[in-house]
Amino acid sequence: MPKKLGFTQKPRHHVFINPWSDAAFTRCPKCDYPTRLRKFPLVVHLAPVNRPAVINKTCRYCIACDLIIIRRLDFDPLVGSLIGRAIDLLEEEPYLPLGTMDREGWKQVSIGLLTTGDLPDIIIPFKNRWNFEPVPRWVKVDGTKNGN
Ligand SMILES: [Zn+2]
Repeated sequence: MPKKLGFTQKPRHHVFINPWSDAAFTRCPKCDYPTRLRKFPLVVHLAPVNRPAVINKTCRYCIACDLIIIRRLDFDPLVGSLIGRAIDLLEEEPYLPLGTMDREGWKQVSIGLLTTGDLPDIIIPFKNRWNFEPVPRWVKVDGTKNGN
């Protein structure tokens, strides 16, 4: 982690990093309400290169719970291209989710007006990180399992 990031913005959104390649969470794992697709500028700290990055990514989002679901299957390749190596889904994620930013902040970052020193002021930190396990909706009885 960089020196203590003194976020100045009020926390918003909960975050869940979905590690399962076979679970899309089209329904919210907390309230079972259908999730929607929404694009967020996600700010993560990349441990291997020790710097923050902003990745604009469409995620599953539960409006009722204010929960953003980041799917590793889709997200890790984007991180991999930034750190210069592929990420195995089985390894611990080499990034720390910090928060999002609003449209104005994202515009400034995407046209290169800000430095990492400015990030603490425009990052909207996550309220909390949640974890869920997928609940099987049916069980196979023939003894075979899915590949991954
Ligand atoms: Zn929900």
